[in-house]
Amino acid sequence: MKYTVDESGFYGNFGGAYIPEMLYPNVEELRLNYLAITEQKSFNEEFQHLLREFVGRPTPLYFAQRLSERYQAHIYLKREDLCHTGAHKINNTIGQILLAKALGKSKIIAETGAGQHGVATATVCALMGLDCTVYMGKLDMERQKPNVERMRILGARVVPATSGNQTLKDATNEAMRHWINNPTDTHYIIGSVVGPHPYPDMVARFQSVISQEIKIQLIDQTGNPTPDYVVACVGGGSNAMGAFYHFLQDDHVQLIGVEAAGHGVDSGESAATTALGKPGILHGSKTLLMQTQDGQVIEPYSISAGLDYPGIGPIHAHLFETERASFINITDEEAMQAGIMLSRTEGIIPAIETAHAIAALDKLQFDKDDVVVLNLSGRGDKDLETYIRWGKY
Ligand SMILES: *Cc1c(COP(=O)(O)O)cnc(C)c1O
Repeated sequence: MKYTVDESGFYGNFGGAYIPEMLYPNVEELRLNYLAITEQKSFNEEFQHLLREFVGRPTPLYFAQRLSERYQAHIYLKREDLCHTGAHKINNTIGQILLAKALGKSKIIAETGAGQHGVATATVCALMGLDCTVYMGKLDMERQKPNVERMRILGARVVPATSGNQTLKDATNEAMRHWINNPTDTHYIIGSVVGPHPYPDMVARFQSVISQEIKIQLIDQTGNPTPDYVVACVGGGSNAMGAFYHFLQDDHVQLIGVEAAGHGVDSGESAATTALGKPGILHGSKTLLMQTQDGQVIEPYSISAGLDYPGIGPIHAHLFETERASFINITDEEAMQAGIMLSRTEGIIPAIETAHAIAALDKLQFDKDDVVVLNLSGRGDKDLETYIRWGKY
C-alpha cells in the first residue's frame, strides 16, 4: 500500500484540489513547480542551512528516563519545542518562503488561528525581507494578543477577519480572497497538511525532516532505526505527518494520532475529527470533517487553539480509513493533567496541543522493551495563561 500522494493529488479517497475557478492559476503554478524546485540541489542546500543555523536543527531525540519508568517502556521525546519560535511550524514556513522566492513572489499571505503559524510566517518574511500579511479572526486576535504583537514586532500586517464567527475558518476565507485578487506577486503559506493539492504533500515533505532525524538518532541511541510506536497530536496533522513520514512503509511501526476531545467526544464540544467526521470538502480538499446532516461545518472546540479545527489533512483521513494509523482522542482535562505531569516528570512544560499526545500514553499498552517516540510539537510558553486559568497544579 502506498500512503503518499498519487499523480492526481489524491490519497486513496481523499485529497484533490476542489477550488474555485479563480484560484486555479495560483494552485496550478504551484503544482507544476513545487517538485522541480524543492528537489534542486541549491534549494536543498539553503533549506538545510537555514534549518541548521536559524531553526536550530537537528532537534534532540531525548531519552525521557523518568517518563519511561512511569510507563514501563523506552520513551524518547523528539524536541520540536526547541525549534526557533517554539514549535515545528517553522520547518514548513522556511521551506515555503524559499519556494516563494524561487517562484519570484514578493508578497506573502497566511491565515492563523492561535497565531503560531502567523508568527512562524512573519519570522521567515522578516528573515527574507518579504512583505507579510496575516489574516486572523477578530475574536482570535482578542484571545491571542501576545502573538498578534509578536507578528507586528516582526513587521507583519495583521488583518482581522470579521465575517462568520471571526475565527480560523473566516481568516482562511479572507486569505483565499486576497490570493484570488493578487495572483501574480503573492504566495499563500498554508500552515498544515491541509488545503488543495499540492499543499498537503508539500507541507508533509518540509516537515518530514522530523522523522528523517528520528531514524538517524534512533540508530545512534538504540542501534535500530525504527521504533515500535510514534505518537503525535493532530490538528491539521503537520507535526504528526512529519514524525510519521519516513515510517509509513514500515508496517511494524505503530502510528498513533491524537485528537482533541474537548469536553468529551459526545459533548457537542470537541475536535475529534476521525471519531465524528464524515467525508466532505474543506478548504479545497476532500477529507473527513465534522458536519451537520446537511453538510454545514460544525464549529470545533478544544482548549488548545492549535487542535481546534473541524477537519484533518487528507493523508490522515487515508491513514485512518486504511487503518495504517490509529487515532485516539483526549479531553481538555486529560491533556491539562498530562501537561503538568510532563512538567514535573521531565522538567519540560509542553504546549497544550502536545499535552494531548502525552495523555495518550495512559491509553496505550506497552511491553517493557517497546521503543516509543513522542513528538513534542511545541513548548508551553504561549499557553501560560491557559495553564493559570485552569489552575489545578
Ligand atoms: C499548530 C500546532 C499544532 C497542530 O498543528 P498540526 O498541523 O496538527 O501539527 C500542534 N502543536 C503545536 C505546538 C502547534 O503550534
